[in-house]
Amino acid sequence: MKKHFKIAVLPGDGIGPEIIDSALKVLDVVAKKYGLTFEYKFGLVGGAAIDETGDPLPSETLKICKESDAILFGAVGGEKWDNLPTDKRPEKGLLRIRKELELFANIRPAKAYEPLLDASPLKPEIIKGVDLVVLRELTGDVYFGEPRGREVRNGERVGYNTMIYYEHEVKRIAKLAFELARNRRKKVTSVDKANVLEVSGLWREVVNEVHADYADVELEHMYIDNCAMQLIRRPKDFDVIVTGNIFGDIISDEAGALTGSLGMLPSASIGERYAFYEPIHGSAPDIAGKGIANPIATILSAAMMLEITCKVPEAARDIERAIEKVLEDGYRTGDIWSPGTKRVNTVEMTEEIIKRIG
Ligand code: ATP
Ligand code: MG
Repeated sequence: MKKHFKIAVLPGDGIGPEIIDSALKVLDVVAKKYGLTFEYKFGLVGGAAIDETGDPLPSETLKICKESDAILFGAVGGEKWDNLPTDKRPEKGLLRIRKELELFANIRPAKAYEPLLDASPLKPEIIKGVDLVVLRELTGDVYFGEPRGREVRNGERVGYNTMIYYEHEVKRIAKLAFELARNRRKKVTSVDKANVLEVSGLWREVVNEVHADYADVELEHMYIDNCAMQLIRRPKDFDVIVTGNIFGDIISDEAGALTGSLGMLPSASIGERYAFYEPIHGSAPDIAGKGIANPIATILSAAMMLEITCKVPEAARDIERAIEKVLEDGYRTGDIWSPGTKRVNTVEMTEEIIKRIG
């Protein structure tokens, strides 16, 4: 089994460098425990790259990414670059990476941590025990479908887009959904609007066909409107939710909001060849440089890397358990602090997590 991995590390802007530093410290500890070696190559991206090179994604950075097994990304953006034209801004660097690496799936876990139930906008009895993953398709759908446009027809302005999915796009995302479910609670909810849309009819048909190879996984279909409601009413019942680009855009934000802790949410974006790991949150310019950012979302993103790229799920579980224990023991960064808990900074939080990895 592969034990050596090339990791492209792109800290970016704002709190990016601080939280990436934490994730690398945790990775070092886990690497020793499991006999893994990581070869890190650092790349400039976002505002940091604009300042050095004028380009939010310098070719050197893209090269590092393309030669890597996985990319660990912090965050980009900040006031300093807000007045640049859209295609020169830090965020453009991230969009270009996603496109260049042909990342077709976005995985966003949402998990309710018992000591943080208060942060959720939902009642504790509803949010308690939530442990789900939203898998969003990224290459197809109304985002890229042709024809698209705005024009004048019969003296009236019209705007239009095309919602389209190819069989192969649905197949590969469905396969990934069933694979993910196999290592979890073995349930997939496929979300569409098959009562209204032809494209959803195809989606449903293909998902059913792929399911034939995964008899051990339960499959249910749900309309997007119903799913949006059930996520609020009984979020515990979901395990893996798989859906198209636009429904996934909405549902993944909704699922993220369930737990109420931005600093706790990791993500992975997967392609045929590359994998990209980043926290959900942005560069948090308001607290950048203060050393108080919550590193957990980024550390959990590194844990996803250990599971998906390195295929060492035990290492990911170690990290997750350590984080659960740290929270149980009352340690909190400012964003998740509440009266009666111990306030710690980024470095202290990281050290407490490392102590508990064992
Ligand atoms: P984006 O950059 O993705 O558009 P945004 O600018 O709306 O997002 P963030 O940069 O994620 O949002 O920050 C939103 C708020 O959450 C800020 O007040 C920020 O300080 C806080 N925040 C975000 N991430 C963290 C974190 N890891 N630790 C502590 N606070 C955070
Ligand atoms: Mg931001």
